[in-house]
Amino acid sequence: MAQKLDEPQDRGDFFKMLGTLVAGFVAEKIEDSVTAVGPKLLRPPGALDELAFLTTCTRCDKCIQACPENSILKASAGTGLSLGTPYILPRSMPCFLCTELPCVKSCPEGALVWPKRKLGEVVVEGPRAVHLGLAVVKEALCLTFPEPDRPAQACRVCVDRCPFPDEAIRLVPAAEGQPPHPVVVEDVCTGCGLCVFGCPTLDPAIIVEPRR
Ligand code: SF4
Ligand code: SF4
Ligand code: SF4
Repeated sequence: MAQKLDEPQDRGDFFKMLGTLVAGFVAEKIEDSVTAVGPKLLRPPGALDELAFLTTCTRCDKCIQACPENSILKASAGTGLSLGTPYILPRSMPCFLCTELPCVKSCPEGALVWPKRKLGEVVVEGPRAVHLGLAVVKEALCLTFPEPDRPAQACRVCVDRCPFPDEAIRLVPAAEGQPPHPVVVEDVCTGCGLCVFGCPTLDPAIIVEPRR
């Protein structure tokens, strides 16, 4: 009996929850289809999620001018909705994770905000909390993996170039007789691309997948 009395409320809650889920699903689909237009770009530190970033950034170039390393580029024709927005190409110039993040401080629109991030139980902020994307090792290109046309060889440039060596990326033991391989730690990697910049292979064996 008690179950029957509760039923209308349960049904109401159910439809409310369903409505929220559907709205969330539709919003996600809209965001996916809008952000899928054009290339996936690596945004400067503290960038809002892609859809919010695209609608907030006024293409004013202030972050580009504020970067002391000239790491931030301006998206050119052929980048769809991203035209004129700032982005980073780590193979040309990575993000050096400046202590004061001048790009973030220069943004008048709030398209770049002071980064905060949870690392385990601790909330960190500033350069350590930057999350441009995630570094990914391409095993077929990485020198530490053997390929039919060449033996494996020791290399640790990506680890040595990383601002958080042995935290964001570390070498792990490989099979006997093989050199250790680099492994990225997802929760710590900032996506700065310093590893990409330093990787000695012609086609970089490590890339940064942009956060979306
Ligand atoms: S400073 Fe802000 S609004 Fe201006 S281009 Fe950079 S991200 Fe966009
Ligand atoms: S720097 Fe490049 S080649 Fe060397 S271990 Fe790292 S990913 Fe592999
Ligand atoms: S692994 Fe690469 S992208 Fe990630 S923090 Fe280290 S240098 Fe930056």
